[in-house]
Amino acid sequence: MTDPLLSVRGLTRHYAVRSGILKRKTGAVRAVDGVSFDLQRGETLAVVGESGCGKSTLAETVIGLDEPTTGEVIFDGDSLADGVDKAFRRRVQMVFQDPFSTLNERMTVGRIVAEPLVIHDEREGDRAAYVRDLLETVGLDPERHYDAFPHELSGGQRQRVGIARALALDPDLLVLDEPVSALDVSVRAGILELLRELQAERGLTYLLISHDVSVVRQLADRVAVMYLGEFVELGDLGTVLDDPAHPYTEALLSSVPRVRAEPEPDERIHLPGSPPDPADPPEGCRFHPRCHLRERLDDEAADRCVAADPELVERESGGEPRSAAADGRTVACHFRPDE
Ligand code: ADP
Ligand code: MG
Repeated sequence: MTDPLLSVRGLTRHYAVRSGILKRKTGAVRAVDGVSFDLQRGETLAVVGESGCGKSTLAETVIGLDEPTTGEVIFDGDSLADGVDKAFRRRVQMVFQDPFSTLNERMTVGRIVAEPLVIHDEREGDRAAYVRDLLETVGLDPERHYDAFPHELSGGQRQRVGIARALALDPDLLVLDEPVSALDVSVRAGILELLRELQAERGLTYLLISHDVSVVRQLADRVAVMYLGEFVELGDLGTVLDDPAHPYTEALLSSVPRVRAEPEPDERIHLPGSPPDPADPPEGCRFHPRCHLRERLDDEAADRCVAADPELVERESGGEPRSAAADGRTVACHFRPDE
């Protein structure tokens, strides 16, 4: 295997909680709390989990918009701790849920897509022609759309503009934060298909952030399941989604209608309550207060869930850490995979 394009090592991002009239620091929101993974060139890793589990914070830290509290992000061999340089800003781009929440609605599509080129002083001679080509690449009509304003476009067309802008500097890595969550279901398939085509044609690497398992299923090669700032399971798409090991992954999947068959009613696992406060996460395994597996354990076993936060490692039956690799899947549960 070649060196990964992106390596994330022990990443944490804590936000200070301040209270009282003196705004003293009284605690910390542990938005991302010890995440490690590698991203190989040309692959798509999806990070999936409930709202508030830290996905966007992870994305922003990876692209250098936010600084880690501890840990390290390494892009193509260079640590971001040494500062984000111009090459990094060119090679790593972000696609947001709503591409225009941060953009000037009074700019034309042509200017919006050209802006990164202007900032980086690139393609001065043939910028307009290049932007027109890009619009065509993302399925827009340069004749109609180059001079259009964002408000004249549909949601799907606006996201195509967001993608064209992200491609303008010919990046290697796209971080896609909920790229189709704001779109009608009927429009989603077209955008996901476009992302697949672009990846195949340009050898792009994707870090896909989504709360939606069906989107992940359509785009990802590997999946990381995130809960309260931590990865609880990480492995190949089929391994994790068709044969989940972590009880949280099971619960997350049981709330999603399957593509092939509806689960039997007694197969459904419901997640009691909402996620705990990331400023005051539960002791031990953070999922234990909501875990259906723990309810079936005897008292002595159930105590382990409170006593220690399980590491994300490869495990054999009984949840014991394993020495030799099997399916490459890592799980953070004392009792999974099952005997
Ligand atoms: P997700 O994208 O998975 O919905 P986020 O990364 O947006 O999750 O948020 C993770 C947690 O961090 C949430 O509890 C959120 O309220 C908190 N958070 C995010 N950004 C900030 C910030 N700038 N200051 C304080 N807390 C934040
Ligand atoms: Mg988010």
